[in-house]
Amino acid sequence: MCYTRNPMLNQQLSQLKDLLKIHYGYSEFRFGQEKAIKNVLEQKSTVVIMPTGGGKSLIYQLPSLILDGITIVISPLIALMKDQVDSLEQIGIPATFINSSLSQIETQSRINDIKNNVYKLIYIAPERFYSQEFMNLLSNVKVSLFAIDEAHCISEWGHDFRPSYMRMKEVIKLVGNPTVLAVTATATPEVREDIIKQLNLSNPEVIVTGFNRPNLKFGVIRASDSQKYSQISNLVQQINGSGIIYAGTRKKVEEMLSYLTSSGVSAVAYHAGMDSNNRKSIQNEFMKGAVRVIIATNAFGLGIDKSDIRFVIHFDMPGTIEAYYQEAGRAGRDGQESHCFMFYSPADRYLREFFISGDNPPPNVITEIYAGLLYNDSDTILATYATLAESVSEKVPDMAIGTALKILEREGYITRSHEKTGQAFIQFSHDADYIKEKLSAKARVQNQALQGFVRHFGDKLLAGVEFSPNDIAEIAGVKRDAITRLVKKLSDENLASYRPPFRGTEIKILKKVKPEDLNINFTALKEKHKRELNKLDIMENYVYDFGCRRKYILDYFKDSNTHDCQICDNCTSGSQAKEVVSDVLNNINFADKKIAKNNEATITTKLTQLETYELYQQNMTIDEMAQTRNLKPGTIIQHLCFLIEKNKDIDINKFVDSKKQIKIQRAIKKVGTDTLTPIKEAVGDEVSWDDIRLMLANLK
Ligand SMILES: [Zn+2]
Repeated sequence: MCYTRNPMLNQQLSQLKDLLKIHYGYSEFRFGQEKAIKNVLEQKSTVVIMPTGGGKSLIYQLPSLILDGITIVISPLIALMKDQVDSLEQIGIPATFINSSLSQIETQSRINDIKNNVYKLIYIAPERFYSQEFMNLLSNVKVSLFAIDEAHCISEWGHDFRPSYMRMKEVIKLVGNPTVLAVTATATPEVREDIIKQLNLSNPEVIVTGFNRPNLKFGVIRASDSQKYSQISNLVQQINGSGIIYAGTRKKVEEMLSYLTSSGVSAVAYHAGMDSNNRKSIQNEFMKGAVRVIIATNAFGLGIDKSDIRFVIHFDMPGTIEAYYQEAGRAGRDGQESHCFMFYSPADRYLREFFISGDNPPPNVITEIYAGLLYNDSDTILATYATLAESVSEKVPDMAIGTALKILEREGYITRSHEKTGQAFIQFSHDADYIKEKLSAKARVQNQALQGFVRHFGDKLLAGVEFSPNDIAEIAGVKRDAITRLVKKLSDENLASYRPPFRGTEIKILKKVKPEDLNINFTALKEKHKRELNKLDIMENYVYDFGCRRKYILDYFKDSNTHDCQICDNCTSGSQAKEVVSDVLNNINFADKKIAKNNEATITTKLTQLETYELYQQNMTIDEMAQTRNLKPGTIIQHLCFLIEKNKDIDINKFVDSKKQIKIQRAIKKVGTDTLTPIKEAVGDEVSWDDIRLMLANLK
């Protein structure tokens, strides 16, 4: 324990250490706990970010025992309050709770007990502070510590925003400005800043700790989308134990699945397009170890508690570091060495940008959709995204239409019923016996699904029928997916024509205003869009960074307990290494490296631009780099421009002399930077295209 010069504080800390032993049975504080407790004793407001299981609650529970006033704990988990208080009583800490489940008399009596020093710790639901009576009751109680649990609920940026948390800063004033301790497991930097802002804390200390996972080995592998399938398949066969492969789209999930199963790996797929029973049974199979690998979109993972996951592979780059770390962090919960590989191709960025633009429709799309809805005669409109898209002047993805509706709904202009699913339509082009012959006798499930149709509709199938896929699945005794697959096969082979069920939304207009008068905070929406793109940049820089992978992530979370991990690809290869087969792969026993090389199954973990960068660092000229790498000088220039844009320290003076630079700058002032040709015309022959390219990259 680190003692201070303040004798009073030293005495309190040593007292708390005794209490730690008595009540919790530990002889030492965990990393970060002690610092936070010291702040509490010194009445310094503090924000603590610690993952679940890191021992956050001890930080306010323990000091409450020696503070002279009471400790108020704000917790949104009303259902859990009683359990929390019961378990405190079990370890001998006098605590109680107040929430809406108690009568006025019971509340009064508990507050009296607090005044009489029966309890030191009191859990309160944030909604309580809206009651004036309750505030009056509290007015004669001395509050020493105001602890806000799940503090991310205060932030509108968080996933868990609770409006009742918005009043906290007033409440803190009303109870006499006690020391404030905000704790959360949510580590995003903007949520953290928002907590400080919303609570009006001046100059608080932020303690971030416990995010380090020393048993995880991180690595980035560069591959084009088409190479990824075989490389991931190779990799999976080199690693023992079970694992998760995350992919950005359902299509990639399905394709990866067929790749793996055809290589003899026991694997299943999981995504939101599958019905919930199916998903549940697949999840169970994976959890109990009946299959080794699950390939999934990010729909998979919440509440997954499988401790022996040996690897998490990302088929493509996620959108944020926090998403990546949360998903990768599902590996190695048991503390055993585990691998976290991210496959990356520059095209991954486009997928993420596509998702981000779907989440952030521009203001005109929102206004135009609203205008389009007003144009209807009735106040209730049944529409598909496709019909709604017609009222928008630019082409936007369906996702953006959905988000625009969500925003209009949130602001009270419309309301939506949940998605309505209508009937599908099918018409057989031949009689059922003929179709049965066309199906392979081995396709047992398909035949069974076909029987479902025949049993229900008989000869009507030739005239065409509307049907519900769920009903037919029920009749045939197969899963809904089997019906979908059969119908697709029949329609692919021209054995039937098929129209999928209508999927649309019922929209009611609640408020009618002129579209230009919509009261929506478009500035905030634009800022949100910008913030998401910025996070994507930080994620992508993870790929290009030379430093320790784990340190990069922990620095992002501002976890103070970081040093180079010595086990990630960057730590083990060193920036000068030219080995194309990454040491990471060597470490996982790439069966026979030489054979792998001869078969050209090598995996390049280093970006080609970074290889150029290493040569640049050896002071080579452009021609020397081109020669060494067996590339054209133009390609080297492209690499340099790329590196400059990624903020690598490339000194442009080495390639473009100052006279030329001045010339180019003058030209840019005159003609702008939109296109190269006018610049080239203005500078004349003395300055080359490459000079201009490098300068432009530098100016960006
Ligand atoms: Zn490292």
